Amino acid sequence: MDLGYFGRYAVVTGGTSGIGLATARLLLAEGAHVAICGRDEARLAAARQALGNVLALRCDVLDKVQVARFAQAVAAWCGGRLDLLVNNAGQGRVSTFADTSDDEWQQELQLKFFSQVLPTRAMLPLLLAAETPAIIAVNSLLALQPESHMVATSAARAGVQSLMKSLAREFAPRIRVNSILLGLVDSGQWQRRFAAREDKAQDRAGWYGALARNKGIPLQRLGEPEEAARAILFLGSPAASYITGASLEVSGGVSRHI
Ligand code: NDP
Repeated sequence: MDLGYFGRYAVVTGGTSGIGLATARLLLAEGAHVAICGRDEARLAAARQALGNVLALRCDVLDKVQVARFAQAVAAWCGGRLDLLVNNAGQGRVSTFADTSDDEWQQELQLKFFSQVLPTRAMLPLLLAAETPAIIAVNSLLALQPESHMVATSAARAGVQSLMKSLAREFAPRIRVNSILLGLVDSGQWQRRFAAREDKAQDRAGWYGALARNKGIPLQRLGEPEEAARAILFLGSPAASYITGASLEVSGGVSRHI
């Protein structure tokens, strides 16, 4: 199936690591022009080198001024027409209600909502100028299946699902808006948690294997970034032309709701 990306323009926020980097790589392989952003200059430089022909700019998606500057650079780069925006930048917060301060709640809600709101608002004129534009929110299964050890992330994720549904209706029929709901994907976040493991004698295979067993993942492993990226590419492509307001689970079967 031809996903129809050849010659199209795509922006991936948080494209310097994990799922964002894998998404940028697949989009380039499909013949798209790709722009990414991230906060860390060294990671941006590494991504530039790994990806080759990519527009890679420093931008914190929670900073309105930086997002406006990024959108301006993207507008000049894509000739004012953007086909795909992947709102991927972010990370999860591991904390229970007892462990989460009011400030941490504010930070988490800010991260989850405004990493969608600010890039979407800034890129909207560019998306509206494209023929068949799409937005993808990279979200988590926690939106539907909350975990008490990630209480703030879970609540915020549910809110993002609601936001996506509203945007899908408000932007129809011009822009399709969909989300992917991730389970556990082996990316920068999990690599950092592995590096910080208590039992340093445990090797990578053992640690990841135990994680998959503890989480009861039917496919018995974490997902690879590219497996999430493939779902993003499909939903964001003209091949998914009749899909909007939908969410696709990429979780190795870990979800238990119907
Ligand atoms: P990584 O840590 O590997 O990648 C996160 C990317 O986002 C990096 O490029 C990082 O770069 C960037 N980023 C983070 N915060 C900002 C910011 N404020 N502004 C701009 N860029 C930012 O993690 P993943 O690939 O796993 O994460 C991708 C998305 O998937 C995240 O939103 C995450 O919450 C979500 N997700 C992941 C799951 C998983 O199991 N991996 C599960 C559920 C959801 P830099 O730090 O340099 O800014």
